Amino acid sequence: MGLLNGKVAIITGAGNGLGAAYARAFGAEGAKVLVNDLGGARDGSGGSIGPAQQVVDDITAAGGEAVANGNDVSTMEGGQAIFDQAMKQWGRVDILVNNAGILRDETFHKGSEANWDLVMKVHLKGTYCCTKPVFEWMRANGGGTIVNTSSTSGLLGNFGQSNYGAAKGGIYGLTRVLAIEGRKYGIKVMCMSPSALTRMTEDLPRYRELAEAEDGFPVAGLPDTIAQSMVYMCSDLCGMDKSGKVMHVGRPGIAELKVVRS
Ligand code: ADP
Repeated sequence: MGLLNGKVAIITGAGNGLGAAYARAFGAEGAKVLVNDLGGARDGSGGSIGPAQQVVDDITAAGGEAVANGNDVSTMEGGQAIFDQAMKQWGRVDILVNNAGILRDETFHKGSEANWDLVMKVHLKGTYCCTKPVFEWMRANGGGTIVNTSSTSGLLGNFGQSNYGAAKGGIYGLTRVLAIEGRKYGIKVMCMSPSALTRMTEDLPRYRELAEAEDGFPVAGLPDTIAQSMVYMCSDLCGMDKSGKVMHVGRPGIAELKVVRS
């Protein structure tokens, strides 16, 4: 018996990095996984289903059940199509992990409006677009779990990440409101701020330094380890009492797991 046995999970941006680690871990824990990724280029443009299909192949080779999806999370049509595919395949959605993302780091004074719009669109609007149909379905069907991806950048600020920090701060605020509005329907809404060395972060000098320093980067900074925290958050072990809770998980390796609202 896996921790997510029989649950249907949608994971966005799951063709690489953390999302792929979540998808594989979910598959191993018995979930049926819709693996979404727009694929292609590093910035999320490109439109190939390849990376998502590769993760699906890994899951099925390990005895799990999964399906690939190549829709863009940042449009309403994309969010709806992702939901529709999961419904068509399995007839329900128990878990949504909003993980898709891109980086366009630049100092604020040199930054462009185009990058601002793009980063806001993929992260903040993407979370909105994917959550909208899922939240509505969960509201009418006894609840479920939604985990959004925030960042220490959104809570504390990181140099060169005004667009990303603003989007991630917005996701944090959205999470809190959805947790309040969702709790009476049994919808558990949380966000995680992972710190991992992935394709997205490997070029950031701070991450490389931390990863290379012997005691600098927590063991849990590895995607597969962070994925175990995600499994826990999406399992029935991580409950929600009647008052509703928003959990914020950041830097799992240094054990920052706190309830920010109860
Ligand atoms: P990390 O694992 O650090 O979060 P990655 O770049 O490895 O970062 O993974 C983010 C994933 O999100 C990428 O695979 C990328 O293709 C995907 N992605 C980016 N934009 C979109 C989008 N609009 N729709 C769906 N997936 C996207």
